[in-house]
Amino acid sequence: MEALLREMEDYGARHHVPIINAQARSAFCRILREERPHRALELGTAIGYSALLMAMLGADDIEIQSMELNEERAAAAREFIRRSPYKDRIVVMSGDAEKLLEDVRGPFDFVFLDAAKGQYGRYFRRILPLLSSRAVVVADNVLFRGYVRSEEKPPRRYKTIVKRLREYIELVNHTPGFVTEILEKGDGLAVSRRNGAC
Ligand code: SAM
Repeated sequence: MEALLREMEDYGARHHVPIINAQARSAFCRILREERPHRALELGTAIGYSALLMAMLGADDIEIQSMELNEERAAAAREFIRRSPYKDRIVVMSGDAEKLLEDVRGPFDFVFLDAAKGQYGRYFRRILPLLSSRAVVVADNVLFRGYVRSEEKPPRRYKTIVKRLREYIELVNHTPGFVTEILEKGDGLAVSRRNGAC
C-alpha cells in the first residue's frame, strides 16, 4: 500500500489534484484508528487517497461510499482503488454530492466532508438523518488559510467561502447531540462526534 499511496501523491502533485495534506492526514489517521468505522461516506473523492486511508484504518468489514464531481478524477480513483487490496470495500460515485446524497442509505458511522467547502452546511443537514448514534463527521479545510478565525478581512474572492465555513462551525457547535473539536492541523479539521444523547 505504501508504494501505491506514494504513486498517488506523485499523481496528485503532477496533475494538481488536492489530497489531504500531511499534517491533516496524521490527525485524520489517528481518528480513524480510534474510531475504526464500519460504514463510511466521503464527499470529495479526488483520486481516492483519503478513501484508501479509511479502508486501511477502518474496521476489517468497512464499506465506503465516496462521491466525486470530476469524472476524470473519479476514473483515476477507481483505477487506483482497483489496484489496492480494498477494491471490494470502496464504491466511487460520480456526480454532485448533494444530488447523489438523495439516493444514499445510512446509517454511516464516519463521514468525511471534503467536497465544495461552501456547501458543508448543506451537506451536514443532508447527512444528519443518515448518521448512526455514535457517528463522527470530519470536515477538512474549515480554517481556510487562517481566514476563518482571523479578525482580518479575507480577500474578496474568499469572502463567501470564509463566511460559509464560519456558518458551518456555528452549525455543528449548535447542533444538539454533537460535540465538535476544531483541530488546527493542515487547513483545519472540524471533528464532530455524535454523543448518542440525541
Ligand atoms: N478527499 C480527497 C483526499 O484527501 O484524497 C481530496 C478531495 S479534494 C480536496 C476535493 C474534491 O471534491 C475535488 O476532487 C473536487 O472535484 C470534488 N468536488 C467539488 N465539488 C464537488 C461536489 N459538488 N460534489 C462532489 N465532489 C465535489
